[in-house]
Amino acid sequence: MKYRHAHHAGNFADVHKHITLLALIEALQRKPKGYLLIDTHAGRGSYELPRHGGTPHESNQGIARLLAMPPTPVRAIPAPPPPPPEIANYIAAVRRFQETHGGRSAYPGSPELAASTLRATDRAVFAETQHEEFLVLRRALERQPRVRLAHEDGFRVLAAALPPIERRALVLMDPPFEESREDFDRLRIAVAEALGRFETGVFALWYPIKQERDSRNWIEALGRAIERPLLVSEIWVHPRDSRVGLNGSGLAIVNAPYQIAERMRVWMPALWEILDESRAGGWSVSEPQPDPQESAAASPRRH
Ligand code: SAM
Repeated sequence: MKYRHAHHAGNFADVHKHITLLALIEALQRKPKGYLLIDTHAGRGSYELPRHGGTPHESNQGIARLLAMPPTPVRAIPAPPPPPPEIANYIAAVRRFQETHGGRSAYPGSPELAASTLRATDRAVFAETQHEEFLVLRRALERQPRVRLAHEDGFRVLAAALPPIERRALVLMDPPFEESREDFDRLRIAVAEALGRFETGVFALWYPIKQERDSRNWIEALGRAIERPLLVSEIWVHPRDSRVGLNGSGLAIVNAPYQIAERMRVWMPALWEILDESRAGGWSVSEPQPDPQESAAASPRRH
């Protein structure tokens, strides 16, 4: 496998995914009872972004835009509105990480962000198959209490970890999508199997929007496969069928916590305004409903 997440770290898709991950964690932590967090495709944990002035990097259209925002509202008339708390929390988490990990070029991946939130009652498992990536992940997090690092296939790790002793779980599934069709299929099958083991787990599945038809068909197939509430959050910064590569970023959330959908309808338009300067794209939050005839996912309600 040649996939290197470092090329994409901090891009608009990472920002979308990591804001949502932190918001889901916060929602689970509203209850004092502990939970198990599983990151099936963890990556190396953190990334070194090129410094300004170097070769253009995808993070220039992602995290760099958020970090360029003033940390506190400036005295301007009219004052720009502060970002929604979910965006502000994420910016604060990235800044905290940078303060302790070498400054403005450091970017925390999902394991570092998640590990920084663990309470004494919570546990986390991070799985990564690529050897070099796993070594970096291990060096960073091996001394962290309540964290297990697995140099194994994340889908197998997931199957073995469910149901969790805590009876509460949040699972992030973030495959590289090098073989798009295969990754789409594996993801759908893996989550359906995992729900068979633990039907109340919260699952966040990341997927790329490269071709409108592929992502739409996949969401419909997922809806048919799981028979659980589905919340779909998408942001795109290019027209959804353009040939630039990655047009947009999607997250399909199964068993979304209470009020996450309502909050998403607040933070997603704000995020889109920050990330899509050219206004070529858009955002949507939808809850595909099972079709009573076919028990299939119907057209999503947008916004
Ligand atoms: N979740 C990370 C983040 O947000 O910071 C990024 C993960 S990156 C998109 C996908 C990672 O999955 C790569 O590091 C790749 O090596 C790893 N990977 C690929 N297949 C895997 C598998 N079957 N099990 C676990 N990790 C896998």
